[in-house]
Amino acid sequence: MNHAELKQAILQAKQETGTLVLAHTYQDPDIIDIADITGDSFALSKAAAQVTDKRRVLMCGVRFMADTVKILSPDKEVILSHRKAACPMAEQIAPERVRAFREEHPDVCVCAYINTTTALKAECDVCVTSSTAVKIVKALPAERILFIPDQNLGGYVRQFVPEKEIILWDGCCPTHHSVSVGDVEAARAAHPGAKIAVHPECRKAVVELCDFIGSTSEIISYAKSVDGDVIIATERGVCDKLRRDYPERGFYQLAPHKLVCPNMKMTTLQNVYDALLGNFGDVIEIEEELRLKAKRSIDNMLKYGG
Ligand code: SF4
Repeated sequence: MNHAELKQAILQAKQETGTLVLAHTYQDPDIIDIADITGDSFALSKAAAQVTDKRRVLMCGVRFMADTVKILSPDKEVILSHRKAACPMAEQIAPERVRAFREEHPDVCVCAYINTTTALKAECDVCVTSSTAVKIVKALPAERILFIPDQNLGGYVRQFVPEKEIILWDGCCPTHHSVSVGDVEAARAAHPGAKIAVHPECRKAVVELCDFIGSTSEIISYAKSVDGDVIIATERGVCDKLRRDYPERGFYQLAPHKLVCPNMKMTTLQNVYDALLGNFGDVIEIEEELRLKAKRSIDNMLKYGG
């Protein structure tokens, strides 16, 4: 099958198998094209839970995203598009280490970025997304917070919640953490006058040099709303989307060779087709007790973050 035939075959297979296809914004544009819903990871999980006429969901992203879909939609068959697609940051901490920390510090509230494994979500008190982290940490009825796993997002939150003690783990997203001050200076020199929109998973020294800080969807909204050129300092999928949606605008990728997540780019169109036919990917199974514990952290995220 050539490229166009493969896309057509995917559309037909979606219909014949009654499968809802979700794609994170960081996926390749080809995958975005054939998806039913695209967006941030938690938004995709919520959207899938609201779809009642499809009992099968294919998540094109990384493992924690498919797990989150399953946590919120236990009665659906949830498939991860590529069994090796995992977020390194989500797996940076063994749950036993969090349990041991808690035993030593019983007054600490454990707050986990949504980019964590199900086992970690089950160990923590509340989850946050990059767009709700500040609001939730402020609202929590605790003075001491252990923020896992992303030191950069945790450090960003700390600036806005000085009244609480926020203890950081030393984890990070290898893709965003690789961006340097020199990359920002080079982009400014190449595109004078352009605004820079950055994700808080980048280092503090990088974030401080930028004009706007936000989650994936907040960066997209910002870039659309401002006049003039915008340099995008997050995974390349965001800039690809903006360029495709607004070809007349000046959108530039910061550090184009660094801001590519190899795990998010693992899934191919052929993988999607094969997964739809049940010959590829990984069907997500979560033991019910673990699912309920992990869901409690997500429920608390909605309670404190709205
Ligand atoms: S971009 Fe970073 S946080 Fe997102 S999936 Fe890749 S490694 Fe994980």
